[in-house]
Amino acid sequence: MDNTSIYLDYNATTPLRPEVKAELLDVLGEPNNPSSIHSLGRSARRRLEKSRNQIAKLINAPPENIIFTSGGTEANNLAINREQYSDIIVSSIEHEAVLAAAVNAKKVRVNNEGVVVLSELENLLADINGQGLVSIMWANNETGVIQPIKEIVEIASKYGALVHSDAVQAVGKIPINFVETGLSMMSVSAHKIGGPTGIGALVVADNVVLKPVLVGGGQEKGRRSGTENILGAIGFGKAAEVVIQNSGENTKVKNLRDLFETKLSQHFPRVNILSQNVSRLGNTSAIVMPGVLAETQVMGFDLDGICLSAGAACSSGKVKRSHVVEAMNIGDEPATNTIRVSFGWDSTEPEIDFLIDTWLKIYERANKKI
Ligand code: PLP
Repeated sequence: MDNTSIYLDYNATTPLRPEVKAELLDVLGEPNNPSSIHSLGRSARRRLEKSRNQIAKLINAPPENIIFTSGGTEANNLAINREQYSDIIVSSIEHEAVLAAAVNAKKVRVNNEGVVVLSELENLLADINGQGLVSIMWANNETGVIQPIKEIVEIASKYGALVHSDAVQAVGKIPINFVETGLSMMSVSAHKIGGPTGIGALVVADNVVLKPVLVGGGQEKGRRSGTENILGAIGFGKAAEVVIQNSGENTKVKNLRDLFETKLSQHFPRVNILSQNVSRLGNTSAIVMPGVLAETQVMGFDLDGICLSAGAACSSGKVKRSHVVEAMNIGDEPATNTIRVSFGWDSTEPEIDFLIDTWLKIYERANKKI
């Protein structure tokens, strides 16, 4: 990474962990087709299955229930097959990969803190005739708010509906136990935990019949055709192993995030930090700056060498109104003026001090002009 940049955008993507890079360099260049019958193919198969096992350990799922995909987006698309379900219910704060896959889905509201309103979910479920699917994310990418997944599964099961959860942001940051929650499907992605981009997985419980999106050679037990991205899978597996080995890392990151929020509040007592009163990922802060659009803030931070995001990064590189903050119904300014700071294992205290100085500088400069 560029040594002069301060990277505070771990929810967008993380740096590749050094252990993952070393592992990848070790196998780079070998012919790795796990479907080949010869010795090199068999060795590729062993590597692929080792990665599957490493991931399985991190999320507490049977390895055979893990289907490799090209990332969280594809996993969400594979899970949400519109033809298969009579009704689909999603939350209003889902990632675009869920919202776009589940067109015409019914939407459950969130409260002012960004938590799904369970009574409303129950009402929507009661109206379903036929097989329903609920898709609610485990943790939100913009605010870090953690949803009550176990309760959601309990409610949905009363109505015979399956539950999928996009756990892309939750994995690696909080303990995840796929089996214990009773989820039917769960999406995960490597590049949020120190692995490479372009590799993820859909975890599928035994009783779920999947309709493949990609058909062809029948890889991944016919559920996702195409020669597996073995380098990606090796990187994903290694990243999962490193996360398990560094289990204390999240407490350190949370302490740093809390220190940042405390210090910022001391310097600017009326600062509005979203969802502070509910269960949140320990690495994420969503902060509203009065009078300054998120887009202007992001550019201002970037000029000072700080990389962060305005909520969801748009694929066009432009900043837009945050549908997540809008759904929380907390006024107009938060939807346009919220930035997301997301810390990670390499974040330091001097970085947060510099971040606060820059935050105050951008605020004062912009508000003086008004
Ligand atoms: N779901 C959530 C909550 C995310 O934050 C992201 C990535 O930003 C995705 C899905 C998409 O994952 P991928 O980039 O692996 O396709």
